[in-house]
Amino acid sequence: MALVSMTALMNHALENRYAVGYFESWNMESILAVVDAAERTNSPVIIGFGGQFIGSKKRAIKENIHHYGYLGKAIAMQSKVPVALLLNEAHTVDLLIKGLHSGFNAVMYESHDLSFEEFTNVNRYLVKTAHFLGAAVEAEIGQLPDSDISNNTISKGEKTDPDLAAHFVESTGIDALAVSVGNVHLLESGHAELDFELIRCLRKKIKVPLVLHGGTGIAEDDLKEAVDLGMCKVNVGTVLKRVYLKHIQCYLKKNDVDHMDPHNVIGRGGEADMLCGAREAIAEAVVKFIKIIGSENKAHLI
Ligand SMILES: [Zn+2]
Repeated sequence: MALVSMTALMNHALENRYAVGYFESWNMESILAVVDAAERTNSPVIIGFGGQFIGSKKRAIKENIHHYGYLGKAIAMQSKVPVALLLNEAHTVDLLIKGLHSGFNAVMYESHDLSFEEFTNVNRYLVKTAHFLGAAVEAEIGQLPDSDISNNTISKGEKTDPDLAAHFVESTGIDALAVSVGNVHLLESGHAELDFELIRCLRKKIKVPLVLHGGTGIAEDDLKEAVDLGMCKVNVGTVLKRVYLKHIQCYLKKNDVDHMDPHNVIGRGGEADMLCGAREAIAEAVVKFIKIIGSENKAHLI
C-alpha cells in the first residue's frame, strides 16, 4: 500500500462508523511497532511524530525534521495497510512546511498564544500550502487540559465552542477538527469525563471529521461511545511511551546486562533483545486500541 491521504482514511471511518487511530511515535522502533499492529489487525492507521517534541528548542540534540519525514514515508510506502503520516502539534509553521516537503501528508499547528484571528490566518495559510502539496491540515479549537503526573495536577482547559468551531472550519478550509470535550492530554491515571452532549452538538454543526486527542486517558466504553457519536480519529501517545518504558525497566531488573553480550541486549533482534520486546509491547497496546475504536479489518475496504 502507498501513503494514503488522512482525509480519505477519516472519511471512510466516518461513513462506516469507526475511528482511525493516530499513534504517536518518537523513534524507528516505535513507528515500526505501530505499523506491525496495523498489519496484524488489517487496520488503516495514522503514523507520525509530535512536532512539539521533535522541534522543541529545549531539545538537547537539535533534530532534522527531514529525517523523520523520509523515515515515516518509507515505512508508510512499504506497509501492507493504508497509512497516513502526520506531523502532529508543531509549534512553528516553519517546521510544518519543512515536514510537508519531507514526506508528511498531514500536519497540525498548535499555539496557545495567538488570538483567534491570528490562529485562523496561520491555518488558512497552512491549508493553502498543504492542499497544494496534496496534504491535509488538522487544527484544534478549544484547549485540552494537560495532566502532569509529576505533581498530580490537571491544568484548566477550555471546551470547544460549536459555533466558533464551525466558523473556524468554514473560514480556514481545514480537513479535520480536534475538539476539547472533556478529554485530557497526557492523562494516565483515572479517566476523563467526556461530554457526550457536546460531541453530538459538534457532530451536527461541524462539516469535517472530528478528532479526539488524549486517547490514553479515556475509558474503553466512553471511547466506543465517542466513536459511535461520530469521532473518526483518536490520538494515542502517552500509553505507548509508558509500555515501552515499563518493558525496559522490567528487562533491566531481570537481566544482569553487565555480564551479557551487548549485541544480544540491543541489535541482534533475538529473544533476548530488549528493544524488540519494547517494540512488541507498543504493538500490543496499539492492537488493543485498534480493536476498541473499530478499525480492525477495515484496511482492505479502503
Ligand atoms: Zn494532542
